[in-house]
Amino acid sequence: MEAISKRFFLYLSNNKLLDGLAKRWGTKFGADKIVGGETFSHAIPLIKKLNHDGLLVTVDHLGEFVNSVDEARERAQECLQSIRAIAFHQLNSQVSVKLTSLGLDISQELVMENMELILSEAKEHGVTVTIDMEDSSRCHATLEIYKALKQKYENLGTVIQSYLYRSDKDVDDLDSYEPYLRLVKGAYKESTKVAFPDKRMVDENLKRLIKKNLLNGHYTAVASHDDAMVEYTINLVKEHGIPRDRFEFQMLYGMRNQMQTDLVKEGYTVRVYLPYGEDWYGYFMRRLAERPANIAFAIKGIFSK
Ligand SMILES: Cc1cc2nc3c(=O)[nH]c(=O)nc-3n(C[C@H](O)[C@H](O)[C@H](O)COP(=O)(O)OP(=O)(O)OC[C@H]3O[C@@H](n4cnc5c(N)ncnc54)[C@H](O)[C@@H]3O)c2cc1C
Repeated sequence: MEAISKRFFLYLSNNKLLDGLAKRWGTKFGADKIVGGETFSHAIPLIKKLNHDGLLVTVDHLGEFVNSVDEARERAQECLQSIRAIAFHQLNSQVSVKLTSLGLDISQELVMENMELILSEAKEHGVTVTIDMEDSSRCHATLEIYKALKQKYENLGTVIQSYLYRSDKDVDDLDSYEPYLRLVKGAYKESTKVAFPDKRMVDENLKRLIKKNLLNGHYTAVASHDDAMVEYTINLVKEHGIPRDRFEFQMLYGMRNQMQTDLVKEGYTVRVYLPYGEDWYGYFMRRLAERPANIAFAIKGIFSK
């Protein structure tokens, strides 16, 4: 049953007609429980509320692939505006970006030009930027860009996915760059040529990577909704006397709200990943596919509006 609903929602996530209808309809039918709104301005009151509740934020302007240079430049401009708004409204928020949305598939010059614009604006306002990790075919290019930019910009993080065989070596290679790393299990469909097929191995590898990056002395964001990962991290930092300002937990907006609140109450840093933008439909459907239990609040959303 779970496999069927997963395939069903993944199929829906690529449906252009529904995507068009969703854009007209707005985030009303439940998507507002996991998406911050259609524009950054819509998201501002929510970010203020999350900050007020002790949660830090990283915003992500939804939309991955761009088809033209102009579109990639528009995405960079949107990012600049969100950085300016974060500074103006004194929000405690970082920014997450996807390199494909800034032109990675078009040209190296374009993506570097856009990243330089974003990072210098972010540096001026003291905002940290994290480069999300996309599918494995873009991992090498993403890490090379990260390394090149990290030498110039302190305020830059990226992501390592524990399902990839290469990740252990990547964490070693990044050591000398004093990386700010978000560690995740990995969200894309990957072949067994590059990724562990067995979920238990992905989980074990995430624990190994958390330990390695923390013991290397680098700031670590453990991005998982999994109790086992949170518990592992808490035990590890206690065992090694790692201070609380050297790591944080990250979770998606709308997921495991109680756990987020409990961790804040216990004095841990928790950052919420808050996506916003007109292209919310695909993101919403992929989250439903990932966790069919989310269907309940989506249906409730339709009938309660
Ligand atoms: C802040 C953040 C940023 C991310 N950035 C990236 C990125 O840049 N690139 C990338 O590839 N992936 C990214 N991911 C996605 C990540 O790779 C995983 O696909 C995703 O987080 C699912 O794995 P998990 O560790 O949360 O839990 P899973 O392995 O999916 O689940 C483990 C267990 O956790 C519990 N659980 C999980 N989700 C929920 C829930 N919603 N409610 C209640 N219990 C739950 C259940 O008990 C479940 O059995 C990001 C995730 C987060 C949280």
